[in-house]
Amino acid sequence: MSKKKFENVNCLICKDDTKVEEIATRGQFNLECHTSICTICGLVFLTPRWTKPEYQNFYSIEYDSYYRPDEISNNKPSEKHLKQYNLILLRIGSYFKPFTTVLDIGCGYGWVMHYINQKYPIKNMYAIESSDRAREFLKNKNIDILTHDVDENWDQDNQNKFELIISRHTLEHFLDPISIITKISHSLTEDGLCYIAVPDMMNPTGDLIDKFFRVVHTYYFNEQTLETVLLAGGIKCIEKGSDNGETWILGKKTKPQFMRCNNYKPQNNLIQKRLNERKKKPLKHNIKQLIKKIINPLI
Ligand SMILES: [Zn+2]
Repeated sequence: MSKKKFENVNCLICKDDTKVEEIATRGQFNLECHTSICTICGLVFLTPRWTKPEYQNFYSIEYDSYYRPDEISNNKPSEKHLKQYNLILLRIGSYFKPFTTVLDIGCGYGWVMHYINQKYPIKNMYAIESSDRAREFLKNKNIDILTHDVDENWDQDNQNKFELIISRHTLEHFLDPISIITKISHSLTEDGLCYIAVPDMMNPTGDLIDKFFRVVHTYYFNEQTLETVLLAGGIKCIEKGSDNGETWILGKKTKPQFMRCNNYKPQNNLIQKRLNERKKKPLKHNIKQLIKKIINPLI
């Protein structure tokens, strides 16, 4: 991987970078990754992080080979993914109705909408997807691509349009999540529903440094920080939960509001506990990781 350009960012909630502490400087694939925590609100995020052109280039060309290799080779979702898609229907639960117009933000190869459509036919399916390869795959799949770039003003021509907007494991990738939430709020119908799920920073799955912290995840939300960010963008929570390593929210549009968030202590305690446990891991594991670190830059 070529040398990347980095930029500093403020805490998304506090709009400040003076109360930010660095937690780690490396992440998954041993890539340079400056995971930090805001000591006021407890939001975990990357700063400094890659600039937008660096991310755009990575998502357009390289992302699939790192994160969707089985989807490229099999042209179908794995069993594990199908179980996760079913969770969406279970969580929507009693709020579910046959939705006629649905948008999936960061839809990948379209499997989530395909899954719902098989059970409850969707008349109009729309998507936003940054991968060149995935967009090519979606041609002739009856899914309209609004744009490849979620930061574009795709909401302007789609006000009050979607009955359901799905953002599953995408918000943690965005460079300005509140602006995207604002667009979601604008483009939902008055009683439209949005489903937003992200990895849970209070229940991180896998090793923090070797797996959980990664350059493509610019934000690491927990239930409190997620709810705060959604409300700041104009989405109010009507149902929420944290399980299976995810924190998720069902939301409806509302006026943007600032909600105080004071989550630093519990969030930092959890992170420090996990980092301390990591230090105590047996020598065998450390040797394995060392070999990985040597091999990874070569592949
Ligand atoms: Zn903050």
